[in-house]
Amino acid sequence: MLLDLRRKLTNNIGHLQEGALKTGGETVNDLSEVAAEHMAERGSDNFAQDLMIRILQDCDAEVCDINRALEKIEMGAYGLCEDCSEPISRKRLTALPFARLCIECKREEERRLAARQ
Ligand SMILES: [Zn+2]
Repeated sequence: MLLDLRRKLTNNIGHLQEGALKTGGETVNDLSEVAAEHMAERGSDNFAQDLMIRILQDCDAEVCDINRALEKIEMGAYGLCEDCSEPISRKRLTALPFARLCIECKREEERRLAARQ
C-alpha cells in the first residue's frame, strides 16, 4: 500500500517537475486540471506556475514521509511514534499510512508550531 502510494506520488512529481521547468515562453503541457482552470480564470501564467510549485512542495514533503515510513517498515519500527515510541493507533494509520507521530505528539507538535508564529 505504501509502495503503491509512493509510486503514484513519484509519478505525479515527475509530471509536475516537467511542467514547472517549462517556464516563460514555452507551453506548459502538464498542468493539472486545477491549475489550467485557474489560469483560464485569471489569465495568469504566473498563478498556475505558483500553484504547481506549491503542489510540488506538498508532494515532496509527502514522499519524504512515505520514504521514512518505508525505512521504518524495514527496521521493524513501522507504526511507532517517532517522538514517544508508543504505537500509533490503527485508525490514524489507516487515514495516514505514513504518519510519523501518534495523535498526541502530532497535536503537541502543532501547538508548538502555532505558538512559534
Ligand atoms: Zn507520540
